[in-house]
Amino acid sequence: MEDLYGRNVTYLRLSVTDRCNLRCRYCMPEDGGCKREHEDMLTEDEMIMAVSVAASLGVRKLRITGGEPLVKKNILSICERACAVPGITERAITTNGTLLPALAGPLKAAGIGRINISLDTLNEEKYRRITRRGELKEALNGIDAALDAGFEKIKINAVLIGGFNDDEVKDLAELTLKMPVDVRFIELMPMYDSGDFGPEAFIKCDTVLEKLPDAVPKEPDGGVARLFALPNALGNIGLISPVSAHFCGACNRLRLTADGRILPCLHSDDEYRIKGMNEDEMREEMRKAILHKPKWHGEMSYAARTHTRRDMNQIGG
Ligand code: SAM
Repeated sequence: MEDLYGRNVTYLRLSVTDRCNLRCRYCMPEDGGCKREHEDMLTEDEMIMAVSVAASLGVRKLRITGGEPLVKKNILSICERACAVPGITERAITTNGTLLPALAGPLKAAGIGRINISLDTLNEEKYRRITRRGELKEALNGIDAALDAGFEKIKINAVLIGGFNDDEVKDLAELTLKMPVDVRFIELMPMYDSGDFGPEAFIKCDTVLEKLPDAVPKEPDGGVARLFALPNALGNIGLISPVSAHFCGACNRLRLTADGRILPCLHSDDEYRIKGMNEDEMREEMRKAILHKPKWHGEMSYAARTHTRRDMNQIGG
């Protein structure tokens, strides 16, 4: 279905939980953030109904996200049912990877084709610091498990943070020389309460190229990343610049939060509640959300700490 600006909305990001086993500093507060009651959250059946309604409105690509989707007890059942919804042709998940050693194979068997794994640093101590509790080895084991499971595509996502991992751009990019993965650098976005970083933490994605003089431009693959590759690499390097060079004109996304709100834009406070609705009511709300998709996300600045009402774990990224 098209929005008022002629953008065809074909991509749903479904957040199955706002909980996580890590506490990444730019994503959620240390105490886990505001706890919602169980009965306020979407049930598995409501999630599947929402995916099916979205598909009836033209959504073709589904990404399961969170919080950390793999901490959800019924994640395999959700994936299996959501992946089987008629009309959904691209099925992806975003995870911090730490639980993949047990779940990569079952996720693949449930129908997940593509997987994005978050990894901001290759340094153990820095990994502990940014995640407030994680162990690098677990994330790396998760990447190995994803490679073994044979997903169609694996992408590693690193949030670029000045003074934290901008000295690791080359090392992270060189993962594409060692394994068949894309490595994508994402600009740090100002969210609600997360991030005890100063203004220096925001750096434009373009700075990545200064550290990779051998990288050559590649054809776009239909996604929001600008693509480059190192010589003889097995995967691409992607630059995602939502702050310095927004891609709102090409945005084809809707987001559904774990507490049952449709968000037509990641950086707007507009929400359409579908929790507790029947199929027809859900379709009506989803139509409204698509029609009222904002033209662009407005000025965003990490230094000025512009922010929305939700942290990223309560949206899904
Ligand atoms: N737990 C999963 C994970 O770690 O990938 C999925 C959810 S997480 C909210 C999805 C993505 O959002 C991750 O790649 C994360 O790095 C990114 N993210 C979270 N907060 C962000 C922020 N403030 N700016 C940029 N990216 C952010």
